[in-house]
Parts: sequence; structure tokens; C-alpha cells
Amino acid sequence: MLDALSLFNQELALLSELIPLWVKLVMVGVVCLALGSYSNSVIFRSPLSALASFERGVVEEYQVPRERCGYLNKWERFSHTGDKRSKCTKCGTKIRLSDNIPLLSYIYLRGSCRSCGERYSPRYVFAEGLFLVVGLASFYWVFGGVFSVDFLVFIGFALTSVFIFFIDLENRVICNSHSVAYQFLFVLFLVLSPVGEFITLDGFVQACSYLVFLHIMVNVPIAKLKGVDSAVGEGDLGLLLIGAALVSMVNNAFPMYELLQVFSVYLILLGVFALACFPFTDTKTGQIPAAPSILLVNATCLIGLLLV
Ligand SMILES: [Zn+2]
Repeated sequence: MLDALSLFNQELALLSELIPLWVKLVMVGVVCLALGSYSNSVIFRSPLSALASFERGVVEEYQVPRERCGYLNKWERFSHTGDKRSKCTKCGTKIRLSDNIPLLSYIYLRGSCRSCGERYSPRYVFAEGLFLVVGLASFYWVFGGVFSVDFLVFIGFALTSVFIFFIDLENRVICNSHSVAYQFLFVLFLVLSPVGEFITLDGFVQACSYLVFLHIMVNVPIAKLKGVDSAVGEGDLGLLLIGAALVSMVNNAFPMYELLQVFSVYLILLGVFALACFPFTDTKTGQIPAAPSILLVNATCLIGLLLV
């Protein structure tokens, strides 16, 4: 399996040499814009089915009026039909192909629907722009402008991060499939890319123990104070495990620092990013999205390692 991958990698590198850099940058840019646009549809649709089935249970058990079940209504309008074409999230009009061009259509239509004038969230253009920048910058600076399997896996990993980031920010929920993909692609990236050298089992286990300690000492009291069952769900724990792996790798890549120092920096960054996510707290339940801050620190650690 790995032999086949390394053969494929060599072929990609050979192919890369034949194409001028600017053509490769255009190719990466176009693919990243398309993926950014795809991520917007995933961010809108993926959490709907889980949250709609939750609301369906509430409707049956407590006779809650249907019009109060926003996710259930949206799911019925957008998700369960076979038609996957993009529609306006307010009036349901199908969006023309010419109005569905990443970045450009949003700017041209000033972020609103052509039929009903509904303003779309700036997240649409933000996710597309973010993905374009991440794709081009990593291709040029980190992967040296050469196509490789590492780069493809990295793009997949970045894409799942974008899904989880925005879905948690908007709905305070993490889809299991995204969480599994995030962890799987991270491990695959470790196997394929040179940064994998920095991981050791000892360091990882040690970092994990700090993490569990932190979870119990910090998040449990916070959850108690807010009167909710838990502040960090199992989806967040999966993301934190990748964080522990990254902390141990940063510790090995920079031998002058102690594990505890690296971990402290990780936590300080986590706190700063978590404060930035405060405005996205659910006013009804008091739930703060935890995944975006964890993903941001994880990305910071990974970029640091890739640039060593
Ligand atoms: Zn509309």
C-alpha cells in the first residue's frame, strides 16, 4: 500500500516538473475555490439531519409547535430531497450556475439572493477565500510548488477542519463523520510527510495525560457553573487528541523547550482563541463552541512544524 503511494508520489513529482509554476498555482487556486464552495454546502447541510432528528424527537415527546423547529423545517426543505442543486436558504429558488461562481458571484450580487434579496452570511465568501489562501500558501511555501500525495492529504485535512470549524461555530455540534475524517487524515499525513519523524509514543502519552487532567480540572467546573452537562463533548476530545500529538511533536522538534512549556503555550493560545469565539455562544443553552479554538491551535502547531 505504502509502496504504491510512494510510486504515485514519484509520478506526481515528475508531472510537476513538466508544468510551469504559474499554471500549477492557477490549478491549485481553481480546485481550492471549488472545494471552498463545496464546503459551504457541507457546512449548511451536514448538521441538519442530526439536529432535525433531535428536534423530531422533541416534537413527538413534548408537542412543541413545528414552526419552532428551525432545523427540522430546513431539513425538510433542503436535505431529504434527491435534488442536490444549491438553493437560496430563504426562498428556496434554485441558484443559477452563473450565480454560483465562488467569490465572484458573492461580490457581484453583493451577497444576496437574486430572487428574494435575502442577505447570505459572510461565511460563504469567507470560507471560499480562506480555503484559497490556505491552498495557495501551503502549496507554494510548505510543499515547494510540487504536487505530492502529502499535499493532497494536507488539503483533505484542511477541508475537514473547515467543515468542523464553521459547523461548530454556527450550530455547536460536530458531525462524527467529519471528526473521524479529521483524525484519519492527520494520521495518514503523519505517515506520509517528514513531520511524522517528530512523533514519539512517550511524548504523545504524556501530552494526553496533561490533556485529560486539564479537561477534568477546567472544563468540568465550568460546565457545572453554567449548569450544563458538559462543556467539551466527545467530538472536541477527538480534536484535542490530535492537539496532544502535535504538542508532543513540537516538543520533539524544539528540544530547548520542556513539554510543560509547550503545553502552556498551547493552552494560552487555546484560551485566546476561545475568547474570540465567545460572541458565538448559544444564548439559550449558554454553550460556547469549543472546536474552532482547538482547530486554530492545532493548525498553528502544524504550520509551525511544517515550516521547521
Ligand atoms: Zn432567495
